[in-house]
Amino acid sequence: MPPGSRSAEGRLEVITGPMFSGKSEELIRRVNRALIARQEVLVCKPAADDRYHPSQVTSHSGRTAKAIPVAGTPELAAAWRSLEVPAQVIALDEVQFFGADLSALISEMVEAGVRVIAAGLDLDFRGEPFGVLPDLLARAEQIDKLSAICVVCGGTATRTQRLLGGEPADPNGPVVLVGASERYEARCRQHHQLVRERGALGGQEAAAQA
Ligand code: ADP
Repeated sequence: MPPGSRSAEGRLEVITGPMFSGKSEELIRRVNRALIARQEVLVCKPAADDRYHPSQVTSHSGRTAKAIPVAGTPELAAAWRSLEVPAQVIALDEVQFFGADLSALISEMVEAGVRVIAAGLDLDFRGEPFGVLPDLLARAEQIDKLSAICVVCGGTATRTQRLLGGEPADPNGPVVLVGASERYEARCRQHHQLVRERGALGGQEAAAQA
């Protein structure tokens, strides 16, 4: 596409941070403002994420927005291309569950003049960069990195703690865990633990987690 034909409106906004940091809330807030402005909005989320509702984006505080579940990037592309009225805004939640091919599709959307708002975890439960997120962060016009509250110390949480049966998870476990009895907590860097490091906690902190 020649540069002159690109719309000035196209941009990528990434909302990132650990679980409970308010990414979905912020995504829903931006979607609602676009709807108030009577813009055409497409909201999609990975079908794998059906924790609350298959066709809603839901925040941990209960706010919702209607969303189309898509199995992956090809289905997202198909949903976008089949719109009768072109979308001005495309909001995507839980983008860490999409494959690396999401980046090229988002670039195509942005070059077509779409404002893309992508929310997702920057780090996985091990504290490692999560999937396509680092790539999206590098390409974004705007990044909002949110933090949560550490459940151990009340400080700034930038990490997502996975617990299995109440214990810190093994770093060798799968990055995406479906249907297991896992639980997640927001934690700061100091209190984020993997099973190997369990002995590093003091008695008081260990009691705070029990
Ligand atoms: P995310 O999409 O980042 O997981 P949500 O938007 O779904 O976050 O949820 C954010 C909400 O989660 C907060 O407004 C608050 O009500 C709730 N919450 C629960 N635990 C925590 C925590 N440890 N730190 C911050 N917010 C929390």
